[in-house]
Parts: sequence; C-alpha cells; structure tokens
Amino acid sequence: MHSIAIIGGGPAGLMAADTLLAASNDLTVTIYEKRKAPARKLLIAGSSGLNITNHLAVDEFLTHYESPSTRFPSIFGPMLRSFTPTDWVRFVESLGSETFLGTSGRYFVREMKASKLVRAWLKKLDAQGLQWKVGTEVRGFSPSNPGKIEISDSSGAILAYDAVIFCLGGGSYEPANQILKWPEIFKSHGVHFTDFRPSNAGYHVHWSEKFLAEADRQPIKSCVLKTSRGVRQGELLITSYGLEGTPVYTVGTPGPATIDLKPELEIQEVLKKLRSVKENLAPIRRAKKVLNLSPAALALIFHHAPREALTEIEAFAQLIKQFPIQLENPRPLEESISAAGGISIDEIDESMMLKRFPGVFLAGEMLDWDAPTGGFLIQACVSQGRWVGNHVLDFIRRKPLT
Ligand SMILES: Cc1cc2nc3c(=O)[nH]c(=O)nc-3n(C[C@H](O)[C@H](O)[C@H](O)COP(=O)(O)OP(=O)(O)OC[C@H]3O[C@@H](n4cnc5c(N)ncnc54)[C@H](O)[C@@H]3O)c2cc1C
Repeated sequence: MHSIAIIGGGPAGLMAADTLLAASNDLTVTIYEKRKAPARKLLIAGSSGLNITNHLAVDEFLTHYESPSTRFPSIFGPMLRSFTPTDWVRFVESLGSETFLGTSGRYFVREMKASKLVRAWLKKLDAQGLQWKVGTEVRGFSPSNPGKIEISDSSGAILAYDAVIFCLGGGSYEPANQILKWPEIFKSHGVHFTDFRPSNAGYHVHWSEKFLAEADRQPIKSCVLKTSRGVRQGELLITSYGLEGTPVYTVGTPGPATIDLKPELEIQEVLKKLRSVKENLAPIRRAKKVLNLSPAALALIFHHAPREALTEIEAFAQLIKQFPIQLENPRPLEESISAAGGISIDEIDESMMLKRFPGVFLAGEMLDWDAPTGGFLIQACVSQGRWVGNHVLDFIRRKPLT
C-alpha cells in the first residue's frame, strides 16, 4: 500500500486528503498538524463571517491573483478551472453547510462561522480512514532510497512516505513572539523563499483624539479609496490606529491617498446639491442636509479637512470627492489576513511538485501568490489542494510499490 503524508491541516491540506481518500482505498494518508487541532485559520476566518468564495466567472476570478512569478497564471488557471468556485460551493453544501450569495458577490456559509463546516469535514475524512498526527511539527524532509521521502518530526520520529504534500500556510496571524519555523525546512535545501510581508492588512493613519472620540469603530460606507496601487470601492472602518476594510486591504500602500465620500455622485452633482440649500450656511452644514453622509464621514471632514476647504463650496465639493489622507505603514503580519511572499512558484512544476525533489508537493498559502479578501484566498487553497491530490495520485500510480 502506498503511503502519503500531508503536512498542515488547513483547507489546502484537508482538500488534498479528501481528494486522495475519495479516489483510492489503496493508500494510507496521514496529516501532520503542529497544533493540537487542525484548521485554526479557517476557524479564525469564520469569526468575521466565513466568505468561502466569490460569484465571479473563472476568467475574471483569475485576474484577482498576483504573484512575482510570470508562471503563476498558467499554473493556477487550470487548477481553478478544474475545481471552480461552483464546485467548492457544492462541496461545502455536501458537508451540510448551507451557503448564500451576499450582495457584494461573495459566498458565505449560512451560519457565518466555520465550526460546523470543519466538524463535518473532519468527520467525513475520519470515516474515509484519514490518520492524524496532531501536535506533531514536521522539522525536515529528505529524499531516501528507494524513491521515498523521509519526514522528521518534533517527536523525534523519522518516517518514510511515497509522497509528501506540504500545505503549511502563510506567515500571517501567527503569534507575535514566535518565529515561523517552516521556511527553514526549504531554505536548508536551497529552495527559493521570499520573506512574508503583511497583506490584506489594516493601515496606520494619524487620527486626532477628538476625531477618534467621535468616530472610532464607525464605518464609512460605500466609499472609494484611491492610492498609487489602485482604486477600490467598499466600506472603511475607522480604528484607533487607522483604517481597516476591503478598500485598504486591496489597494493600501504607504503614502498619500484619497477617499471619495460620495462615489455615486459626480462632482457637479455634489455642487448642485450643496448649492440647492437656500439658507446661507457653511458647506459642512449644507452637506449634512443634502449629502446623506455617514457620521464617520462628517467627523472626518470636521476634524481632518484642510481648513481652507471648509469655507468655499467648490473646494468643499472637491474635498468630498477626493478627501486627502496619508496612509502610513500596514499593521503587522500577526494581524494581517494573509501574507505576500513564500516559496517561489518557479520551484514547482505544473503538478505542484518541487522540481528538484520528486515526490515533494506544495499547495496553499505557503507559495508566493496573493489575492485580496472576497473569498479568493480560501478558493485558491482548496483548488490547489484538489489539484495536488489528483497529481499525487498520478505520481504514485506511476511508481512501483516498495
Ligand atoms: C482573520 C482572518 C480572516 C480570514 N478570512 C477569510 C475569508 O473570509 N475568506 C477567505 O477566502 N480567506 C480568509 N482568510 C484566509 C484563509 O484563512 C487562508 O487563506 C487559508 O486558511 C490558508 O489555507 P492553507 O491550508 O494554505 O494554510 P493554513 O490554513 O494556514 O493551514 C496551515 C496549517 O499548517 C500547520 N503547520 C504549519 N507548519 C507546520 C509544521 N512544520 N508541521 C505541521 N503542521 C504545520 C499550521 O498549524 C496550520 O494548521 C482569513 C484569514 C484570517 C487570518
């Protein structure tokens, strides 16, 4: 019987295990998980509403990914096409979790949390014969003869497998005081790894105390953030240190930025509305009457607008459409939703196998690709998990039993 080890019990690892076990009775599959229980990040993701994927058609879906490797689109495209957002939604529903499509085009699980989905998935995998080594950290791998891969772990054991799939996750949301150990496993073999940096992270903005007293934890709904990285509509959340929310996760970068506080109106329409107020009022008081701005947007104007823009209607309309702010540094890696960096896509072939270590496969956030929030992260991990599972099956079928 062939034996396969999967290292890491997140969505990529669970999907790889599911694919292998569903396809063959003739192998043993063992997941090593360094924590006491698997799927920690999936469960954390569910704490703010588990957004499993997005409604976009596959071609448009693919445009949301970035990687320093020019090979990424040609490697990842077939994976997403062979396990699409629709396939993933069906899979989640097959585990008994109802899903729904939100107005933002994102798919969520009805209960919003991930615990029911994770429980059902683990139960299914257990019934299929998955073996677990939880609380066991893998410390290294080495090819061994004949054609096996040896794994050494924190218990001191060294075991050989026919194939090993690493799904170790990215560098985000790890405890601040702990150094992520797994990159060394690959660096020690000369595999190219780029240090992780925060992605999908909040940004620091210097707010005044008076502004925070009014606006802390309040949303600026449906605004448009513009930075040197791009333009993104959505909801920004004011926090004590700066800003959170999809627009800043997607296009945040240190430097000057502007917020369009009324994106549904052209500047001429803003002006017209401001001028329609008959009383002789200051622009901000006119805005309160006719622009239907959120309390956080009004507080932002009141406490952080350049003074000269508050007295004259044209300048004020300009301010509404291009409110200037300065984004400082992102929040640290331990608070960011995902991480840019990881093992170079150029190290793997189309089956996700390390080119220089036949039998060693990689999948999920540990690889150097990135995507915004919106369900793109989990979708990529499960599509890659499915793909790697199928390709490991092909790999071991071509391999004689030893
Ligand atoms: C706050 C937050 C909210 C999020 N919300 C969403 C969302 O709504 N939608 C979305 O698409 N994505 C979301 N994400 C991102 C999503 O959770 C990740 O993209 C996904 O979990 C990555 O899957 P993975 O399998 O690659 O890695 P992980 O889920 O990180 O799993 C990797 C596993 O490997 C284990 N491991 C690491 N090293 C070793 C070792 N040496 N030996 C053994 N085990 C090891 C880890 O303990 C971990 O369990 C969110 C993330 C965070 C932090």
